[in-house]
Amino acid sequence: MEFLPLFFDLKESTALVFGASDAAARKVEVLLKANCRIALVAATLNESLKAHLESPLFKHFLNDDDELWAAAHIIVAATDDASVDERISETAKARKLPVNVVNRADLSNFVFPSIIDRSPIIAAVSSSGELPVLTRLLRSRLEATIPHAFGRLAVIARKYRSEVKQQIKSINTRRHFWESVLEGRFADLVFSGQEEAAEKELKEKLDQHLNEKNQVEGEVYLVGAGPGDPDLLTFKALRLIRQADVVLYDRLVSEPILALVRQDAEKINVGKERANHLVPQDSINSLLVQYAKKGKRVLRLKGGDPFIFGRGGEEIETLAEEGVSFQVVPGITAASGCAAYSGIPLTHRDYSQSVRFITGHLKNDTCDLPWGEFVHENQTLVFYMGLTGLPTICRSLTEHGMKADKPIALISKGTTRDQKVLVGTLSNISDMADQAKVSAPTLIIIGDVVNLREKLKWFS
Ligand code: SAH
Repeated sequence: MEFLPLFFDLKESTALVFGASDAAARKVEVLLKANCRIALVAATLNESLKAHLESPLFKHFLNDDDELWAAAHIIVAATDDASVDERISETAKARKLPVNVVNRADLSNFVFPSIIDRSPIIAAVSSSGELPVLTRLLRSRLEATIPHAFGRLAVIARKYRSEVKQQIKSINTRRHFWESVLEGRFADLVFSGQEEAAEKELKEKLDQHLNEKNQVEGEVYLVGAGPGDPDLLTFKALRLIRQADVVLYDRLVSEPILALVRQDAEKINVGKERANHLVPQDSINSLLVQYAKKGKRVLRLKGGDPFIFGRGGEEIETLAEEGVSFQVVPGITAASGCAAYSGIPLTHRDYSQSVRFITGHLKNDTCDLPWGEFVHENQTLVFYMGLTGLPTICRSLTEHGMKADKPIALISKGTTRDQKVLVGTLSNISDMADQAKVSAPTLIIIGDVVNLREKLKWFS
């Protein structure tokens, strides 16, 4: 992180601003919104700056002097003269004052973000001074999605904060209460301007909550996180990821998806690598039960889809036996994700009328799979967990009658920026994979549809 966003109270502070450019005027405006005193140094004032002369917070000076510098808390330079801006930056840094030179992140030690103001809720977006256009784009998206009355939500809710704190002692229960209120009818009423009705709703919710002796019950969310690209999450997955108090995740869940988890949520890596189970399956099952029984919302986050080679079934079986409530959220399985991002349709009217998902995890390298069933024209085979067994898979299929020149694709780290696709035939792919040092996770697609990639590939 090049710049750390901090929110400063500037009410009793003075900003020493240099220049009378439009940029200077914009900074003055935003500083005045924060009730900061302004000492503006410029030979002349433009119209928008002149308008501030009536404000008791705004003072105009023709030149700077030691006294002005000594009274300043922050410095802003927007003089349109590079050498003057550089001198100001140097002086400020020598005096250990925070300085912003407009459009010169290299001379600044703080930058002005784009602001979405729903006071007291404020969101700030910055590109670390590099690409203001991008920042503005993001800001307009946020502006469109955060209702204008969002700040009112905070104003009204905080009136009840101490009462709720007094009535609901457990932090966990309190958080659940606020989440249900702030995402429910109370919020809808505030957004539609019915503040009295909203307050009534909030009070009723609190009474209702206190009357339900049987406080919060925990729940487990078994959620498919998809193959890697966070944009492939479902809305429901995203909502539950944000709500969870505890997260149990495995190795296949990508970093950007884990970053969506609430910062204060407990994160437990129960990752599985081949033959290296960090936490054995039985312990995962009982951890889920234990946390849920403590009243936590437990997110069991799995790569791809939880019901496709994900042992999701086993985990919820234990929950069902223990009477713990749960929800299952499907995810995009590796086969769909990798097929789409490699330009290999799994079915195609001309080449394949069926598709089989097969586990390539061969126990002790033995071939206890019904190989004969796999050898059909017009069928696509997808092997999960097949990288280690690749030579066995290719050999067994040819032994059972599949042509040695049948096209095969290996897709590693599919849908992510590190995706790699290797295309060959049953006879040469194992050597190609060795040479290319293909690494896990890798999905194998076998069938004539693989040839379509040449024409349909789009993601690189
Ligand atoms: N439940 C998961 C599969 C878990 S089995 C799902 O529905 O996708 C693990 C196997 O999935 C890996 O060995 C690999 O074959 C495949 N896999 C998972 N994510 C992948 C990815 N991003 N790219 C390629 N293969 C992947």
